[in-house]
Amino acid sequence: MSKVFLVGAGPGDPGLLTLRAKQVIETCDVMIYDYLANKDFLKWCKPDCEILYVGKKGGDHTLPQDKINELIIEKAREGKDICRLKGGDPYVFGRGGEEAEELVEAGIDFEVVPGITAGVAAPAYAGIPVTHRDHTTSVCFITGHEDPTKEKSGHNWAVYGQSNSTLVFYMGVKNLPMIAKNLMDNGRAPETPVALVRWGTRCTQQSMVSTLENVAADAAERGFKAPSIIVVGGVCSLHDKLNWFEKKPLLGKGVVVTRAREQASGLVDILGAKGACVYEFPTISVEHIDDYADVETAILGLAGYDWLVFTSVNGVKFFWEQMETVGLDTRILGGIQVAAIGPATADALREKGVNPDFIPEKYVAEHVVDGLLKKGIQGSRVLIPRARVAREILPEKLSEAGCDVQVLPVYETRMAGSDVDAVREAMKAGKVQYVTFTSSSTVQNFFELMPPEEFKTYEGVKIASIGPITSKTVHEYGFTVAVRPEEYTIPGLVEELLKD
Ligand code: SAH
Repeated sequence: MSKVFLVGAGPGDPGLLTLRAKQVIETCDVMIYDYLANKDFLKWCKPDCEILYVGKKGGDHTLPQDKINELIIEKAREGKDICRLKGGDPYVFGRGGEEAEELVEAGIDFEVVPGITAGVAAPAYAGIPVTHRDHTTSVCFITGHEDPTKEKSGHNWAVYGQSNSTLVFYMGVKNLPMIAKNLMDNGRAPETPVALVRWGTRCTQQSMVSTLENVAADAAERGFKAPSIIVVGGVCSLHDKLNWFEKKPLLGKGVVVTRAREQASGLVDILGAKGACVYEFPTISVEHIDDYADVETAILGLAGYDWLVFTSVNGVKFFWEQMETVGLDTRILGGIQVAAIGPATADALREKGVNPDFIPEKYVAEHVVDGLLKKGIQGSRVLIPRARVAREILPEKLSEAGCDVQVLPVYETRMAGSDVDAVREAMKAGKVQYVTFTSSSTVQNFFELMPPEEFKTYEGVKIASIGPITSKTVHEYGFTVAVRPEEYTIPGLVEELLKD
């Protein structure tokens, strides 16, 4: 029997997801998630989990509610377990109740996993306890955006206005002028403190405190938008005193972590604890290809080539490995010209006893071709041992120049972790301030997936490097290191970032 789990994803901070929610995410067959559910949690889904986005952002509905209900029921009828993931708590302004009723009518089994609602968590992260004996005896959760199809408002402004209750409005930013006016018209003092908390509990959290009479103008001036929680009442006066989260030294700073996921967690955790918005850069794992017959043929026929062009350290490593497998060594390269496309590749060749005949001044395919042409490569027979999938520009340009080019895959790369495009988008949007490197290989991986010529265009992104050897590799790609710890450790690196 399939089951539908209506799950609260909490307000955004991953640490505020419940253990039960994580368990459901890890085991569901279908994941149907909303705009306000933190997308990071999707990484815990099973590899074959079907992931569907039905988010609503403001008035812009990806799928209308009745279609969402139909989708959930349709998937459940396929006999699958479904995680219906919603921001905060599913039953607090999340329409979880409506979905549950539909499920009952359709005879489908369901469970609810409550979540931490934004109306409590966002104020708490902005230094506002929603109740406090000095200020209030109750708290009210109110929608700031009533069902527009309703004929008569369900709000009783007289009650909100005359009570001393803390009022917590969801979805209220657009209606803030109306909300403030109604409260004042019904008896709340114009100087009553009001707080807005946007993207509460996330690294992008922002908050502001004003008064009922000024808040609409203040919020407009500061450009406060959804998703924000609005809190009205004396408790907001505690913001300055209790505001612990926004004091974090790296709050809102975008930091890219380039370590392999298995090793990265330490750095990711420390940066996260300091408030940074951490972007995990995918790492690549380098693997053998299935069949080396072509490589063997090429190695045995090396005498038929004029140039060997290596574009990566791994190209060198795997080519030599096969040479040794065939029972040959570096001496077979006598008489063949060898090019290294980057400084690290050149070092790898030197380690094999080969001093490259050509190293370009700039490590961009176009420059490489120009340099090789100056060396007289046109019309030659060129072998390029490299990854199975790589930029085609080098072989193409060399073919155009009349070379007889053979591309020889000697290894393949697999991407692990999140996608480069997410980091790329964040860099484009100016959300990234630092890229951290913790070893030379992280530098190489990074520039393999993000070409140096592209990275150059993202101005304002500084490089933090753990130590001198890593920094040397950064320099070889033509970049400077802005953050250099005295102590070459992860905590040392973070310390130095805090000082920058
Ligand atoms: N079920 C959710 C609320 C959904 S209604 C919950 O329990 O939290 C959507 C509204 O929730 C938004 O318009 C905003 O007012 C509020 N909200 C959700 N997440 C928020 C966050 N991280 N920071 C501030 N407000 C948030």
